[in-house]
Amino acid sequence: MIKNTKTLAISVAFLLLSQIAVAEKKLSVVYVYDENFPRPFEGKIVPLLEQAAKTLGKKLGGGIEFEEPQEIRQEDFFARHLDKFTYKELYDRVGYPVFKKVDNETYLASVGNFLERWELEELKSFFPDAPADADRAWVARSLLAAYAERIAELKDLKYADGRPFLEKKGYTYHSYLAWATAASTQQKWEIVVTNAPIVYDHITQPYPHNVLKRALLGGVSLTGQVRGSALNRVILLSLATFAEGQPSFLEESLVGRSGKERMKVAASYLLAHELGHAVYLVPDVYNHGVKCLMNTTLANMDYWSGYRQLVSNKGRCALCSPYRRTREKLVSGDRQYAKQKYEKAFKSYRQAEELLPERISGERPVVLSRLMLKQLKCLVFLGKREESLTLVDKLVATDPENKEFRKLRFSIKDLKKDVWELPEDQKQRPER
Ligand SMILES: [Zn+2]
Ligand SMILES: [Zn+2]
Repeated sequence: MIKNTKTLAISVAFLLLSQIAVAEKKLSVVYVYDENFPRPFEGKIVPLLEQAAKTLGKKLGGGIEFEEPQEIRQEDFFARHLDKFTYKELYDRVGYPVFKKVDNETYLASVGNFLERWELEELKSFFPDAPADADRAWVARSLLAAYAERIAELKDLKYADGRPFLEKKGYTYHSYLAWATAASTQQKWEIVVTNAPIVYDHITQPYPHNVLKRALLGGVSLTGQVRGSALNRVILLSLATFAEGQPSFLEESLVGRSGKERMKVAASYLLAHELGHAVYLVPDVYNHGVKCLMNTTLANMDYWSGYRQLVSNKGRCALCSPYRRTREKLVSGDRQYAKQKYEKAFKSYRQAEELLPERISGERPVVLSRLMLKQLKCLVFLGKREESLTLVDKLVATDPENKEFRKLRFSIKDLKKDVWELPEDQKQRPER
């Protein structure tokens, strides 16, 4: 009897471990549709996904595949996946007060902090009329003023039947902060595509290229919590700027382009770029040149010009190769692991950890700890007790919040009881 229970515990742990490291899993996709707006590209997104994978293959690397997209109504998506409390707390703190009179001065300091990530000259390039002596405070003020104008423009828009596009009631459905909250906390899909227009309402993070255009979201790569995902990211993509509707959000540079051309722009210019963040961990870069998919100067262009620059400058960006090499090691580690070649898998994961560039998209400690966790699983299977314990310390020090590690520790404990003695202060930590 006791023996059976033990065998069961071990096989459950094995199952859990093996499911988590399946090599090159297909990415899961959901199409969240808003019935008030048209769906571009005849309602299909498979060609969009395929085209994005193709561009990514040319620019960074291949091997990305997608599961059959699922579909869900926007109301249902929000009802099931939006934690209203988290959203409200976030919106009260950093949301654009769309329905209130906004005193820009209140936000100057935090916007100033946010803009620190750009050089002053870069920032000024967004404002062709900037006076020669314009400083950072001038940029922050001008940006907030432009932001207010964009929001006012969005508030003037009406549906074909005369209803206003933005109302207090139901605003949540258009709020970027709500979408971002739902997308990053749901645990099912790595890519969330929608035809809904999403108002970029994160007032303390006014990305100039976004705010100065229309204050609508195109695409973003967020930290995610998708179960069994090989990424710790979720991509949120809005196709509203590719469709003609009432009101219309179609980007000016796409007027007169065919449906196929627009689809290619959405795929190569938006989605492939977000995949570059999520899969290859390349951050937005400004000095990689015209071939680079992750070039931020692309973001300052209109969609069509950005797309044309990307496809007419064929070939791969040399400066992105450290990111490619890191991913190659990670993928080969996953392959070896799936074949139960733990020694080789461990080596590949360790190399990936060593190759991981300093500047990445997302949080470096989180990515590092994920690579360590993979190494740790190999060590457990190899029965290397001392090395495992050293790595546990390193992992906890690198990212104390690693949820996967905390979830897994009990099953690993079952698997190799003697290997897994957690320090006292780790034992009672609540699961989240
Ligand atoms: Zn980007
Ligand atoms: Zn590059």
